[in-house]
Amino acid sequence: MSFNGDVTAVGLEGGSRVRGTVVLVEDTRLFSKVLSHRFSDELGLSVAHVPSLAALKELVEGGNRFELAVVDLTLPDSSDGEVVDYTSDNGIPTVVFTGRFDRDIRNALMRRKVVDYVIKDSERAINSVVNTVKRFFNNQSNTILVVDDMSSVRSNLVELLKLQQYNVIGVGTGLEALDVLNRFPEVELMITDYVMPDMDGYELTQRVRRMFETDELGIIGISSSSDRLLSANFLKAGANDFIYRPFVEEELLCRVANSLDMLQQIRNLKRAAACDYLTGLFNRRYFFDRGPRQIGIGQRESIPCSIAILDIDHFKKLNDTYGHEIGDRVLIAVAHKLENLLDGSPHLLSRLGGEEFGILMTGLDSAAGTDYCDWLRHELSRVRIVADDEDLTITVSIGVSGIEGDETFDNHLNAADQFLYMAKHQGRNRVYSDALMAASVSAAE
Ligand code: GH3
Ligand code: MG
Ligand code: MG
Repeated sequence: MSFNGDVTAVGLEGGSRVRGTVVLVEDTRLFSKVLSHRFSDELGLSVAHVPSLAALKELVEGGNRFELAVVDLTLPDSSDGEVVDYTSDNGIPTVVFTGRFDRDIRNALMRRKVVDYVIKDSERAINSVVNTVKRFFNNQSNTILVVDDMSSVRSNLVELLKLQQYNVIGVGTGLEALDVLNRFPEVELMITDYVMPDMDGYELTQRVRRMFETDELGIIGISSSSDRLLSANFLKAGANDFIYRPFVEEELLCRVANSLDMLQQIRNLKRAAACDYLTGLFNRRYFFDRGPRQIGIGQRESIPCSIAILDIDHFKKLNDTYGHEIGDRVLIAVAHKLENLLDGSPHLLSRLGGEEFGILMTGLDSAAGTDYCDWLRHELSRVRIVADDEDLTITVSIGVSGIEGDETFDNHLNAADQFLYMAKHQGRNRVYSDALMAASVSAAE
C-alpha cells in the first residue's frame, strides 16, 4: 500500500498483527491522533489518516482499498456530508463521527446506509467510536439466523445485518430454521418472525429452546402484529428479546449487539470458572464436573479408561531454593508441555492444585495408561526452564489407576493417589499403577 500527499500511516508495520484496514477522515488533530493510535494499538488495525475529502479521494483513486471508513461529517471541503456520499458511492462501509446531529441528519445517514453514527457530545464519544469499529471487525465471527416467510422483509433484515459484517443465514420456514440450527452449530442468534406458514415463531422458539439453552443461543422475536401480548408470549417461550415492526434500525442493531455481548460474557465467565488462573489449564472443579461424564460415556461404549495423578518431585525444595516466582514459572512450563503432549488426544488434563495434575485417559486401560504416563514422565524430564542464570530440570512421579466398576470419581482419584504415594515411596521419577502392582504380584508367585 502506498500513501502520498497529506497522509500519515500508522500501524502498517508488523503486518502479522493487522486485522483490517481503516481510513480515518478527520480534520481535528486531537481526535485524529487519539483515534489513529487506538485503532492501531488496541484493535490491531492498519490505519490511514487524511484530513479532508480531497485527500481521501486521492488515496482511493490511487488504488488504496479500505474495509472501513471512519469519517467526520463536517470537514473543510465537505460541510454537508459530501464525504459520506463519496464513501458510500465507492462501496466503503462507513462509520460517521459528528458534532452536529438532528433527525434530518440521522435520516440522511440511514438512507446512505452507514454502518453506524457516533455523536461527539461527551468524552465517551471516542470510546464509542473505538467500540463501534471493534464490533465491525468482530462481527465477522458472529453468525445470525433470520427466519421470515416474506422474502422481501427477510432480505431487508439480512442486508441490514450484513452491513454490520455479521454472517447471516436467511430462511423462510420454521422447519428450515431447525435444520440450519442442527447443521450449523456456529449460529449464535436467531431472529424470528411470528406469523409463518408451517409453524409460528412462538412454536419455533419453544422447539429451539428444547435444543439450546439461553446461554447457548439467543432468540429475538419480531412481529408487525398489533397484539401487545405477543412479546410476553415470546419471552415466556424462551426468547431473550422482542421487537415490534416497524422498528428503528438502530434499536434493532443495539438489541442484536446486546444479545451477542451477553452470550460472549457468559462464555468468558464459563471459561474463567473452568480454568486455572496460573497455567490456563482446566481446574479441579472442571475436572470433577467433566470427568464422571467422560467415564460414563466410556463405560456405555465399552472404551477402557484410566486416571492419573502427576506430581512434581521435591517442588517445595525448588520453591525454597529459587523462590516462588521461579516455582510458578516451572508450573507454567510443565502445564504447557503437558498440554502440547496431550494435544489431539481425547484425554482430559487439569491442574488439581499446587504441583499436582490430573489426567483422565480415554481409550487406555491401566497397562496402556501406565506406558503413556511413562512417556509423559520421560518427556517432562527433558524440559529446561530458565531460572536466573541456570537451566532447571524437574522430574515427576505419577500414580495410575484403571477405571473399573461403579466407583465414584473420588474413589478412582483416591486410588491413583495411592499409587502416586507408592511411586514417591519407591524413589520418585517413576510411574506406579495397579497394572504394575498386579504384574509384580504375579511375578512373585
Ligand atoms: P514430593 O516430591 O513428595 O512431591 O515433595 P514436594 O516438595 O513436591 O511436595 P510438597 O507437597 O511437600 O510441596 C508442594 C509445594 O508446592 C508446597 C507449596 O508451597 C508449593 N505450591 C503449591 N502451589 C503453588 C503455586 O501455585 N506456586 C508455587 N510456586 N508453589 C506452589
Ligand atoms: Mg511434589
Ligand atoms: Mg504435592
